[in-house]
Amino acid sequence: MSRRRQVYEGKAKVLFEGPEPGTLVQYFKDDASAFNNQKKGVITGKGVLNNRISEFIMLRLGEIGLPTHFVRRLNMREQLIKEVEIIPIEVMVRNVAAGSIAKRLGLPEGQALPRSIIEYYYKSDELNDPMVSEEHITAFGWATPNELDEMMSMALRVNDYLSGLFIGVGIRLVDFKLEFGRLWNNDDMRIVLADEISPDNCRLWDSQTNEKMDKDRFRRDLGGTAEAYQEVARRLGILPEGGPRDMKGPAVMQ
Ligand code: 5GP
Repeated sequence: MSRRRQVYEGKAKVLFEGPEPGTLVQYFKDDASAFNNQKKGVITGKGVLNNRISEFIMLRLGEIGLPTHFVRRLNMREQLIKEVEIIPIEVMVRNVAAGSIAKRLGLPEGQALPRSIIEYYYKSDELNDPMVSEEHITAFGWATPNELDEMMSMALRVNDYLSGLFIGVGIRLVDFKLEFGRLWNNDDMRIVLADEISPDNCRLWDSQTNEKMDKDRFRRDLGGTAEAYQEVARRLGILPEGGPRDMKGPAVMQ
């Protein structure tokens, strides 16, 4: 049996060559990391849950006309995606003060922001993903002004849609990180949403109790991380059929 060629390994996912040109297989690991890889661990079942949660969200966004890299889920831990040229910018959307903005600006965690705020960070592990401005992004050619406009308007649409989706299941969307890519079709290019959307890259708080239901449980050693991800999946109506027994997924990958 031939092994698939691995094209990239990140902290939480592995990308393999896909079955057709222009496609990749995105494999979700249980590995978790925080603080630029200084803290590492395993959250059992996380990969299975994030595969499902991200599939669900990407499909809903596709339905409202937002282009994404997602093609279809292949199995418990893998999804087929379109190969894109990743733009090296992390787009953060914030609705409520938490995490780095709370620290940087001395805001109490949980304070609603005057309006949704977008921030850009340059993707670089060596530099610890520094925050950058539109000026940096366009001057260094990481994205053109048009691409940046497109990313910003897509990020706001994602925020509007997901805020409503989560409020409907009793969850407050505090903030999240998006990544975008260039999808080429001969000489035509369009910007699509890439990576994943899951409790790994969103802050999700229970709207009644403010309990954290995201990776901050791991970052801050709060415990119950896997259970919190399961609860997000359960509220979205997508807990794997066999329940937690299904979470481990295949032990051996080819
Ligand atoms: P903050 O800047 O407050 O640390 O993060 C803002 C939001 O972006 C949070 O929802 C956080 O989970 C997400 N985020 C920031 N940096 C990263 C990163 O390097 N990886 C992932 N998966 N999410 C991130």
